[in-house]
Amino acid sequence: MSELEPRAIRVLLVEDDEDDYILTRELLADSRRSQFELDWISNFDEALTAICRFNHDLYLVDYRLGERDGLELLRRAKSNGCNAPLILLTGQGDGDVDVAAMRAGAADYLVKGDIDAQLLERSIRYSLEQSRTLHALRESEERYALSARGANDGLWVWDLTRAEVYYSPRWKSMLGYADDAIGNSPDEWMSRVHPDDVELLRGAIDLHVHGDTPHFESEHRMRGRNDEYRWMLSRGLAVRDANGNATRIAGSQTDITERKLAVERLTHDAFHDALTQLPNRALFMDRLQRALETHRRRATARFAVLFLDLDRFKIVNDSLGHVLGDELLIGVAQRLSEMLRTSDTVARIGGDEFTILLEGLDHITDAVRTARRIQEELLVPFRIGGHEIFTTASIGIALSTTRYDRPEDVLRDADIAMYRAKSRGKARHEVFDTAMHERAVKMLQFETDLRRAVERDELRLLYQPIVSLRDGTLVGFEALVRWDRGGELIRADEIIPVAEETGLILPIGRWVLTEALRQLAAWDAAGIGGGRIDIHVNLSPKQLLQPNLVEQVTSALAASGIAAQRLHLEVTESVLIESAEAAAALLRDLKAAGVCLSLDDFGTGYSSLSSLRQFPFDMLKIDRSFLIDGGESARTDEIVRTVSSLAGILGMNVTIEGLETHEQTERMRELSIEFAQGFYFARPVRAEEVAALLSAKVEN
Ligand code: C2E
Ligand code: MG
Ligand code: MG
Repeated sequence: MSELEPRAIRVLLVEDDEDDYILTRELLADSRRSQFELDWISNFDEALTAICRFNHDLYLVDYRLGERDGLELLRRAKSNGCNAPLILLTGQGDGDVDVAAMRAGAADYLVKGDIDAQLLERSIRYSLEQSRTLHALRESEERYALSARGANDGLWVWDLTRAEVYYSPRWKSMLGYADDAIGNSPDEWMSRVHPDDVELLRGAIDLHVHGDTPHFESEHRMRGRNDEYRWMLSRGLAVRDANGNATRIAGSQTDITERKLAVERLTHDAFHDALTQLPNRALFMDRLQRALETHRRRATARFAVLFLDLDRFKIVNDSLGHVLGDELLIGVAQRLSEMLRTSDTVARIGGDEFTILLEGLDHITDAVRTARRIQEELLVPFRIGGHEIFTTASIGIALSTTRYDRPEDVLRDADIAMYRAKSRGKARHEVFDTAMHERAVKMLQFETDLRRAVERDELRLLYQPIVSLRDGTLVGFEALVRWDRGGELIRADEIIPVAEETGLILPIGRWVLTEALRQLAAWDAAGIGGGRIDIHVNLSPKQLLQPNLVEQVTSALAASGIAAQRLHLEVTESVLIESAEAAAALLRDLKAAGVCLSLDDFGTGYSSLSSLRQFPFDMLKIDRSFLIDGGESARTDEIVRTVSSLAGILGMNVTIEGLETHEQTERMRELSIEFAQGFYFARPVRAEEVAALLSAKVEN
């Protein structure tokens, strides 16, 4: 102790000789370094009672106490829990007491005749300091024992020289064993380690024994008495001799099963789709990455990725509700998992999108065979919530024969091929090829350019006449959008699908509407058409979803000054199928605003004439696919006749689209079709050419 005590050190002297007491008192009083308070007791029993009151910092005990001796007092005091240091004082010639005193726990041992003030004072100080250190050590040991117990740790000490292990009772009970059920051989441990983990564990121990790791640590499974495995974390530290050789390792064992399970659950959740429990995109990409790496090392390790998208899933979802939609997805996931090998990875990476990684393919054609099998599997309807649900899938396939570097590229190509399958009529599969890739890149470029086209005013309208078959008069024009792409006019067939997919259809549609009406007003003003011709404008289903469509139409009409009944809006059947209720309401609103409505491309969809009753159409435009000549013409004529007469009953006019020949035109006239449109009369023309067209008609 290097600093002065802040308060006096309380010392109890147990001494049956008063002279010795006085001597001691004087010695202590002489000390300059420390202050002492000295109490004195001469009797053994009184001394023991006093010691047990723990009022003193230190005891000075005479070895000779009548019939009893200081050693006995020392032992009794210790066993009563006295932690304060005790210094034994002896007379000359009691030298052999030394060892016994030390064993009994005396802090020091002084021979009375040799004591001077300095020696006594120093012995007291050293004893106090030592006691304090011991106390701290004991506390920390206790804390450790407590925390070990608190953490439910088992303890073990492996004596390497004797090949014996001490296992604490807790160590054994963690595995379900009583204390006496397990001996002390290392095998008691090793034989219970999971066969898959034992090598790792031994390796970790060896490394530490040889001094290659600062401490030993291992997570492994241990078989308990009930034959179930639990995860254990074992940690330890080697004790080494002077040569650095490990003689013992002491360590702990913690049951980490719960933590392992929690981590496993979290990991599972992070890499799986919550609905179907299939791997998710992250896990799929990881597996694909590994497949790529294996393939790079070994070219025969062929793989394929199938990109599967359910056809018309949205319709199921919208008509039957999300709950049944989810059930269908779960059903599909199950069917896919059941029919594929466990080495294949089936993942759900989006709403109704599944991806499949097929590995270890003998022949790359096996991928196509699998796609075919999946499509056959899906033919069996799903029984969900009392419904029989039929679903099909479009599948795109990407093969490892294309040299891929990144998993994203494989997935992208499978996706492109899937789109191809969809656009070729769904419920089919396509294998990706480079031509597809080029097309996809072009499409992307097209999209970007189209966006710019709208901003740069590169859109144009062409006008195709609609004529009366009765008298050949020109009754109106259909406005058809074109894109002037550096002098080349891109047709609507190419523009509209992309515009619909990207949302560009809304600005394009608005522009077409105002431009067509502006043009009609300009013709009126120039006296072209005599104010009698109508204008037909196409509306995409996407445009019908705009809540302000009616307002958009009426304000465009107002701006142009064109009467509402001269505007014909053309919509296709798909609108009526996908959201019949909403469409009917909107069409009635448009009708109420005074515009005319045409059902475009009639005959290409599924709607029956009678179902059209609920929609307020003024005109039916029969698709040109009905004009195909050949053996069937008698039948198609029959259909056209029926359609036309039913339309008449429903109060609709009929226009036939796509007339190209004189014969077709005559046939349609015979069938009493009223209006017609087609190259036979005129191709779509520029606004500037309309005047010439009209005067030519007038000459007719
Ligand atoms: P649609 O409304 O049925 O328009 C008729 C299409 O048939 C036009 O193609 C026209 O050029 C073509 N056509 C006309 N007569 C004949 C013929 O005798 N033979 C052949 N083979 N074809 C003929 P286009 O302009 O490419 O338009 C295709 C479709 O794109 C249109 O079909 C329409 O649904 C849509 N569309 C065109 N312009 C617009 C527009 O401004 N907005 C919207 N939403 N859709 C439009
Ligand atoms: Mg049309
Ligand atoms: Mg049409």
